[in-house]
Amino acid sequence: MADDNVRSKNSLSFDGPDDSFNPCEAITEAKRCLNCKKPLCRTGCPIEHEIPQFIEALARGNVGEASTIIARRSNLPAVCGRVCPHEKQCEGACILAKKDQGIRIGKLEQFIADFDAEMELTTYTPPNKFAGKVAVIGSGPAGLTVAGDLAKAGYQVTVFESQTEPGGVLVYGIPDFRLKKDVVRREIRRIERLGVAFNTEVLVGPDITIDEMFAEDYDAIFIGTGTALPRTLDVPGKDLPGVLQASYLLQMVALARAGNVDRREVPIQLGDQIFVIGAGNVAMDAARTAIRLGAKATVVYHRTEKEITALPSEYQQAKEEGVQFIWLASTKQFLGQDNLTCLEYEALEIDTDKNIRGSGRFVKVPADKVILAIGQRPAARIISTTTGIEVNDKGYVITKDRPYGLTTRRGVFAGGDVVHEPATVVLAMKEAKKVAQGIALYIEAKKLLEECGK
Ligand code: FAD
Repeated sequence: MADDNVRSKNSLSFDGPDDSFNPCEAITEAKRCLNCKKPLCRTGCPIEHEIPQFIEALARGNVGEASTIIARRSNLPAVCGRVCPHEKQCEGACILAKKDQGIRIGKLEQFIADFDAEMELTTYTPPNKFAGKVAVIGSGPAGLTVAGDLAKAGYQVTVFESQTEPGGVLVYGIPDFRLKKDVVRREIRRIERLGVAFNTEVLVGPDITIDEMFAEDYDAIFIGTGTALPRTLDVPGKDLPGVLQASYLLQMVALARAGNVDRREVPIQLGDQIFVIGAGNVAMDAARTAIRLGAKATVVYHRTEKEITALPSEYQQAKEEGVQFIWLASTKQFLGQDNLTCLEYEALEIDTDKNIRGSGRFVKVPADKVILAIGQRPAARIISTTTGIEVNDKGYVITKDRPYGLTTRRGVFAGGDVVHEPATVVLAMKEAKKVAQGIALYIEAKKLLEECGK
């Protein structure tokens, strides 16, 4: 188990070092780039970052230029530099990765973003006259991208966020040991400096409806509300106290770290025996968080090690930090009188046709808490309080391709996880960038028709 864990047991101050390049290391790394004619790194990046160009500017020591190039494609470089699955994207595609050590593109992006923020190398002056007025609901990567892109294009943007702090999963999901909240806050301040206004603690739907927003003269409204409803496991005992959602645990830890709730409200105690159901990145985050709170964490998964959806690097780190794994285990029930005391699973086996099936062997293990990390889906707070916005049978908002991101209601657009199911920060950004263009086109046409008296 890592020293870091031992040092921080049952406390909330479990930050690891923020593994950043210093200027010399960054420039040395940038100089290794071959500046390929056909940059595979760029093809590997969902938002098609101009990677060779910003690396070349950095290699010349011009961090301001590098940052300006990055800002053409992204409003969240310090975040992407830290949490994007680079190994599957730009870095995985780098030609040097096939020979030896690929360029550490994520760390270079992180360095450029951090250096620019610290030195304030680049500035932006919002326009005096706006091209239109847009409301953005939700301030995760999708909402922040739409807000930033439209502000840069000359639109007046107000973000409505139900939480006390903007940032979505970046603040209330991804733990601090992977993404420090100060980094997110700094990125949001930069978006604010583009002229974007943030209205927090407003739950659109119950607090203000889409119709009431249109009555405030918004030309278009963007829904980027993510997937707020965690999935539950339909087994006996699922409602016992002690059976928790990963999103709840991660949010409570974030709130306690920000001083917004008492540490005692974080539902894990020193020495607790925790079982995490699921094996995606959220499960790894929950298990690693539990370990940092001084618990013993075991991931229970109904498939094999090869089939986990967590990134290999996340899985590796979880193992190094002491998370245990039970493979081929199907959770059958949670047991206990007033509180959870035990989890029962059936051991699974693989038959000769390579199908997974029950073995008939049932195992009971003592458990203080079970953390469910088996997926999320959208809440219906907005669509249940307005008319005309259609969703599919799983609750995801249906959108069109022209203008990109328009829902079935005129003037209302949507993007990010609420449309495309939970994915990654950069995929939410990619879609949101296309929706921002769709909104701009829509408003241009709307204004033209208004001018013509239509
Ligand atoms: P969200 O980030 O969910 O933001 C939605 C926002 O809308 C929230 O702030 C919410 O409070 C607000 N909202 C919801 N309803 C309303 C309403 N009615 N009124 C006002 N506001 C509302 N991706 C990666 O690339 N790398 C990672 O390492 C990674 N780790 C993850 C770890 C965890 C624990 C989780 C849960 C996800 C992780 N992801 C990761 C996935 C990634 O964070 C999401 O795909 C991304 O945040 C989706 O962005 P979004 O803007 O669509 O939604």
